Amino acid sequence: MAKKQFKAESKKLMNLMINSIYTNKEIFLREIISNASDAMDKLYYRSLTDTNMKIDHDDFKIEIVIDKEKRTLTIRDNGCGMTEEELENNLGTIARSGSSLFKEGMEKKEDIDIIGQFGVGFYSAFMVSSKVEVISRSYDSDKAYSWVSTGTDGYSIKETTKENYGTDIILTIKEDSEEENYSEYLDPYRIRNLVKKYSDYITYPICMEMEHSKKKEGTKDEYETVKEVETLNSLVPLWKKNKSDVQQEDYDTFYSDKFFDYEKPLMHIHTSAEGTVSYQSLLYIPSHAPYDYYTKEYEKGLQLYSNGVLIMEKCKELLPDYYSFVKGVVDSPDLSLNISRETLQQDRVLKVIAKNIEKKIHDELKKLMDQNRTDYEKFFQAFGMQLKFGVYNNYGMDKDKLQDLLMFYSSKEKKMISLKEYVEKMPKEQEYIYYACGETVDKIDLLPQVDQLKEKDYDILYLTEYVDEFALQTLMEFEGKKFMNASTTNLDLATAEEKEKLKKLNEENKDMFATMKEAIPEMKEIRFTSRLKNHPVCLVSDGAISVEMEKVINAMPTDEKIKASTILEINESHPIAQKLKDLYKKDKDELKEYTKILYAQARLIEGLPIDNPTEISNLICTELSK
Ligand code: ADP
Repeated sequence: MAKKQFKAESKKLMNLMINSIYTNKEIFLREIISNASDAMDKLYYRSLTDTNMKIDHDDFKIEIVIDKEKRTLTIRDNGCGMTEEELENNLGTIARSGSSLFKEGMEKKEDIDIIGQFGVGFYSAFMVSSKVEVISRSYDSDKAYSWVSTGTDGYSIKETTKENYGTDIILTIKEDSEEENYSEYLDPYRIRNLVKKYSDYITYPICMEMEHSKKKEGTKDEYETVKEVETLNSLVPLWKKNKSDVQQEDYDTFYSDKFFDYEKPLMHIHTSAEGTVSYQSLLYIPSHAPYDYYTKEYEKGLQLYSNGVLIMEKCKELLPDYYSFVKGVVDSPDLSLNISRETLQQDRVLKVIAKNIEKKIHDELKKLMDQNRTDYEKFFQAFGMQLKFGVYNNYGMDKDKLQDLLMFYSSKEKKMISLKEYVEKMPKEQEYIYYACGETVDKIDLLPQVDQLKEKDYDILYLTEYVDEFALQTLMEFEGKKFMNASTTNLDLATAEEKEKLKKLNEENKDMFATMKEAIPEMKEIRFTSRLKNHPVCLVSDGAISVEMEKVINAMPTDEKIKASTILEINESHPIAQKLKDLYKKDKDELKEYTKILYAQARLIEGLPIDNPTEISNLICTELSK
């Protein structure tokens, strides 16, 4: 029979793995057991909704058989099994994204320890085996197939017989070499230890026949060797254990195994609640956003168990959208086993659990913010956007639950701070919480509109994400202090005397401004200002829609376009002010051209597009040539 070749990518991966100097080869067992457990989950999970299937949860088990003579280690499960096609597809190619990430990691770094960080799957079997045979029968078929491979040279599949559905993985363990003792994987005690070390939390029994020395019945000190089937794992899932019995490493391994993340989680939240509703939950905050997190494809949800039995892979009712990044499991004996998607939403028990979980997540995040700012910043970098969406979604219904978790960049502290921290440091006379928007912190810092606030030594929150201003506008205020955009006309910091002086100045020049306005009719007003220190001009918005919001809303894929109502302000103490006055007397056409340039300048500073770049560029050149 012709041998088939592995897909090119898989072949490379196998080569890397088989030839790696990786010392932690023992993890192959964890990978195979984890696949077996998944296969049983799949079958059981199907049976929950398919009443024709007669599956008893208690029948599921993983058996390990050692044959020292043949040098084989067999791992048998009675899970869903695989058809011929599935064998081909699943074992002939890299199955999941984790594997290709793994490959990248292996190629990039010399540090081979990356293997230990996350599941590498079925291929790891080749680290210890000279031959791997997979005999499988799908639950949906009477036919069984055998898949055989000795490594990178390919694989073959042929029909065979198998009494029951499920999968046998038969590893022919490599011969010992000078550097490597492979025979240890044929030692029952060594295997038992490996199961305890890596797979103790598996919820199905992992059984193996062990030899014991036992006192012969009726004798005083005569011993005989008996064989007994032993369950190697404790069967208590990790989340049901006492916190004090679980090591950090166990939490991390469980996470990467279950949620296919190659990076360690930022933190875990392990709770056990007793009362009207009892449940255990083990939640994780990932340390980075999954690649599809901010897309429609991402599905939130927690794994739902009823007394250790998986009843739902992703229960979305357990998490509000703003905490959709949380991964984890929830287990409650109070949940009915045949809970359905339809009845879920009304389920009282589930509602209580969801409410408690939400509060717990909030409190733990707050604690992290207060006690470990570095980690919190990392968290906020990854998921802060989601919290801010949460504030302004649903008309701000949830804002009170989220506002203390927000952080923004502070112009004074030069780092992210909370709103509380901002308010605490406000000088007595400061009335508002000031913010300014822009593409980057550096760009905002150069905005003319922030000068005056800096002069007063007020702190300014620099908002760089488009959702930021919407979130603040939804909050409206924090601890009684209203938010104020540095680029609005309401920014009223001048003294009464200064105001009077400015008013007079603008009154005197109103005819000049009228002429200037002819050059840019879309402008609501042009006037002098005393708010600018060094900059010649700036654009301020007048009304509820700021320039930043105009940018965001117009970038949305709808037909509705809006325009912020804007005012062009000119620094009355800048030499340009006198120049304009002179031009008004001497040459009104040139005054209009100057106005166009100044307006373009103000738009550029705001990061707004210019409608007539060619005209502006020609105007500048004409002026430069004079
Ligand atoms: P992963 O488990 O990460 O998807 P693997 O390389 O370990 O990748 O396995 C590839 C695929 O082969 C699995 O996704 C699964 O569909 C299938 N598979 C592996 N082991 C078994 C098994 N014991 N029973 C049924 N299917 C299995």
